[in-house]
Amino acid sequence: MIEIISDFDHGNIHCVDASDPSNIQLEIKPDGKADFFQWFNFRVEGAADQPLTMTIRNVHRSSYINGWKNYQAVASYDGEAWFRVDTVFDGETLTINHTPDNNAVHYAYFAAYPTTRYRDFVGDVKASGMLDHAVIGETLDGQSIDYFKTGEGDRQFWIIARQHPGETMGSWWMEGFLTALTEESNETARALRAKATLHIIPCMNLDGSKRGHLRTNAAGIDLNRAWQNTTMDKSPEVCLVREKMRETGVQFFLDVHGDEAIANNFLDSAINIPSWDHTHAARFDRFSSLLLEESKDFQTEEGYPAPAPGKANLDVANNYVAETWGCLSMTLEMPFKDASVNPEPAQGWSPERCRNFAREHLTVMAQIADILR
Ligand SMILES: [Zn+2]
Repeated sequence: MIEIISDFDHGNIHCVDASDPSNIQLEIKPDGKADFFQWFNFRVEGAADQPLTMTIRNVHRSSYINGWKNYQAVASYDGEAWFRVDTVFDGETLTINHTPDNNAVHYAYFAAYPTTRYRDFVGDVKASGMLDHAVIGETLDGQSIDYFKTGEGDRQFWIIARQHPGETMGSWWMEGFLTALTEESNETARALRAKATLHIIPCMNLDGSKRGHLRTNAAGIDLNRAWQNTTMDKSPEVCLVREKMRETGVQFFLDVHGDEAIANNFLDSAINIPSWDHTHAARFDRFSSLLLEESKDFQTEEGYPAPAPGKANLDVANNYVAETWGCLSMTLEMPFKDASVNPEPAQGWSPERCRNFAREHLTVMAQIADILR
């Protein structure tokens, strides 16, 4: 008897019919108070050595249809090691074919990052004693929003992740970034601390994460479309972080995300905000070229098209921050698929690669700090 289970932290699937292992019918559930859906995460129990054919039949109505082209789902037996499994998109449905070795196997859109892991990791970072920690407030579901601070430099660096809960690569990136900052012998971290004070929000959208959402918080708000007009009763996560930024000022901002469709890592600048000028452009180009030198996983050919001059959406965090503080401000997008500039087909883009990529960002931040005032 096969069971499909998703009533756990960041789980998402509706099981329509699992009576026949060769024809399991599934659907992804939309975010609680919004229509977005794409994230799936479920466990199959009691299917060791049985060939499974699992069809997610509503993907043609999902938020990012291009996300399914050339996409391979991930699977894991332990939540640590994730590998790609045979996945077919026919324009309408997504079919995953896999024969699990064990009686408990996870399938997900990308390596899952449950809030239990998040709490354990935050505990480890606090225990290192290398960063100051504070809770800056609560989410609508009553979860503590963690804030870390480190460094003595006069430049204020803000780094946030997981505004969109389905983009778990943001949390894997944060693990790499924060781990590097906990290492006493890390010379790059030391160099960055001397120049900058780092303000870090490891997870912006804890409620959406726990609830198994793709994009929104408990009130159905897309946090990355709520930076200009935000209220404590709808999006306290943004209100609280924005308030803290007003206290410190901002000279550098990086907001870490994942992109469903584009099979590469890329940076999105705040191009064509009302105040966009040569200074903005030069700082962004400098950061991009330093990252290009540092990382074989980064590229600058593929990315988002620029909005019309002056028309960048100021409800998006990186545009809002660039316009408000006149600083270098970027969104990092990592792929759900694989990075086509440096493919690794067995794992695709993965937790390990996210963590490594974060360390490369740390190196480039230490370099760019010199030109930021
Ligand atoms: Zn995003």
